[in-house]
Amino acid sequence: MMPQKRGQVPSRIAMSSYWKVLGIFLLFLQSALSLQPAQPSVLLVSFDGFRWDYIYRVSTPNFHYAMKNGVHVRQVTNVFITKTYPNHYTLVTGLYAESHGIVANEMFDPVLNETFSLNKMNTHNSKFWEEASPIWVTNQREGHKSGAAMWPGTDVKIHGVLPTHYMPYNESVPFEDRVAKLIDWFTSEEPINFGLLYWEQPDEMGHLLGPENPLMGAIISDIDRKLGYLISELKKAKLWDVINVIVTSDHGMSQSSSERLIELDQYVSRELYEVIDHSPTVAILPKEGKLEEVYEALANAHPNMTVYKKEQIPDRFHYKHNIKIQPILAVADKGWEIVRNKTDGFLIGNHGYDNTIPEMHPIFLAAGPAFRKNATKQFMNATDLYPLLCHLLGINPLPNNGSLNAVKDILVERVPGARGADSYSTVIGVFLGSLLVLVFTAVFVKHFVLAQANSMQIQHTEAAQPLLQD
Ligand SMILES: [Zn+2]
Repeated sequence: MMPQKRGQVPSRIAMSSYWKVLGIFLLFLQSALSLQPAQPSVLLVSFDGFRWDYIYRVSTPNFHYAMKNGVHVRQVTNVFITKTYPNHYTLVTGLYAESHGIVANEMFDPVLNETFSLNKMNTHNSKFWEEASPIWVTNQREGHKSGAAMWPGTDVKIHGVLPTHYMPYNESVPFEDRVAKLIDWFTSEEPINFGLLYWEQPDEMGHLLGPENPLMGAIISDIDRKLGYLISELKKAKLWDVINVIVTSDHGMSQSSSERLIELDQYVSRELYEVIDHSPTVAILPKEGKLEEVYEALANAHPNMTVYKKEQIPDRFHYKHNIKIQPILAVADKGWEIVRNKTDGFLIGNHGYDNTIPEMHPIFLAAGPAFRKNATKQFMNATDLYPLLCHLLGINPLPNNGSLNAVKDILVERVPGARGADSYSTVIGVFLGSLLVLVFTAVFVKHFVLAQANSMQIQHTEAAQPLLQD
């Protein structure tokens, strides 16, 4: 009926205006919330074999610039064995080697009857990696994007997942190209929140020259220039001040010598065993039925070599409970090398020793909005990095051997929960948003009621008049 129809006109107009204005308002609110400091992104950098004290050997202005703008942890206890693959996997899982399963650079899995070898670049069998889930897998399962430039394991499908962006491992790709890729990924329309950058030096030159060689100074200076390049590129891309950058390594390096060789051939026939992983921590697989014979021959063979049956390996190494750890482990003292005989050759710089030896420890510094500035911390475990990374990324850590509590004092604010900073800003955003919607609705209701009242008056006036035709 016309009067009713006419009576609805003002409220219809009001309703459609309400939805339009509310829609615009909600869009504004959404963009305002997204402009709030979202969980800052994280870039994790590893300079392979960068010993903790290299920054004091020669002038390293870029390392010191980052330290001044962030946090420096002086002693980071990495995991046994202090080799590249076990420690890189610890950094991204928070697990000891026996738990994440990458127990060495050279492995044999007796159940799979398969080998894994960094030397032969035979590292792509997913099964070796899948005792753990690295952080990029979790990050992506929680809806984020990751990008990896050559970090060990990032070109392997683990639990069916590859990083959102990654570079197939190729040692000859220059540092600058790796940085450029990461910056592309951080600044793309669908940016990553987590990047991993790996560089092979100063490990390779440390092995070749030995860490005590004065020529290492130039190698360390070159790494410092590379860090400077990374910082300047991040600044150009307006990322340096807004992302959290962590610079660390997998292990240090110590000096070997031809005067400190332990020759297994002097004690036991090489017909009785196979060497799976090499000096200075040697994984020995005795031939069938030869375990006791090999062990007895080596147990007290040399004062600078400690030989364990697998079950005797000290608990503090967290290096026993894994099928890929071989029945006998021979560990050299710092600076000593275990070879079959002198013709095997050895590396003048090496790592892989007891993880309590300071020379085995890596550099660690962190700068960005989450970190305190110009702060020094004395000690942390490498396993603590993983829960810290999960906290920074706002993702849920998987069970691990690290502790966020142990490292939260390097953060700007102490936050009780792993998602603390994130939920704090979300709560404020939701509260403000709800308040504004309530105010808007109240204003609308007032407007609507007034409009209804006016239309009632119009209806009453019109009802007194003759109806129009039709
Ligand atoms: Zn390494």
